[in-house]
Amino acid sequence: MRVLIVEDEVRLAATLRDLLELNGYTADMCHDGESGLDNALSSIYDVIILDVMLPRMDGFTVLRKLRAAGCSAPVLMLTARSEISDKVTGLDSGADYYLTKPFDPKELLACIRALTRRQPELRDTDCLRCGDLQLEKSSFTLRCGDRSVRLSRKEFDMLELLMLNQKLVITKENLLVKVWGYDSDAEDNNVEVYISFLRRKLEHLHSTVKIRTIRMVGYCLEPTS
Ligand code: CA
Repeated sequence: MRVLIVEDEVRLAATLRDLLELNGYTADMCHDGESGLDNALSSIYDVIILDVMLPRMDGFTVLRKLRAAGCSAPVLMLTARSEISDKVTGLDSGADYYLTKPFDPKELLACIRALTRRQPELRDTDCLRCGDLQLEKSSFTLRCGDRSVRLSRKEFDMLELLMLNQKLVITKENLLVKVWGYDSDAEDNNVEVYISFLRRKLEHLHSTVKIRTIRMVGYCLEPTS
């Protein structure tokens, strides 16, 4: 699981990153609201930890913009302030949980576990759906009606990212990072090749779902019926 930490206190952010990585998560950091929003919109994150008081854009605004853009990743808000009104503002902006600094690391980890459990339709059940398609995680099987095909690991990872973010355009860059990883030397045309494999499989299944190309940007799923 990949966690984005948006926190301008650099030492606290680094402590959080170390804590998360010790506990098996991959964590990235941003230190201001604008870059936090840009990164969060990449849709490669399973959870976003978002501070309220941030330079360039405050956490509430970041959260409202994220939700308006269709990002449904769980958001855990952090703040040094403990006033009720802040909690209400945070929850009204679409936060899933609110933690007041200073907090116990155990509480933070428990929150993250709870938040990733709280999206059963997206993350914990075996099956993702889009239009007439069902993607089974345990067997890498893609079904449409009574037809089915087995996907390769990379095909599965790409389609999963597209299905988890059905309202969003997924950029080639995000697909590269999510499927091949940051350190890989894979390039855009690797993504294009795997998209063509997936399109062939959708055709074979006679699915009405199409992978639409958004020129110069990326791809999105389009249930056409
Ligand atoms: Ca802050």
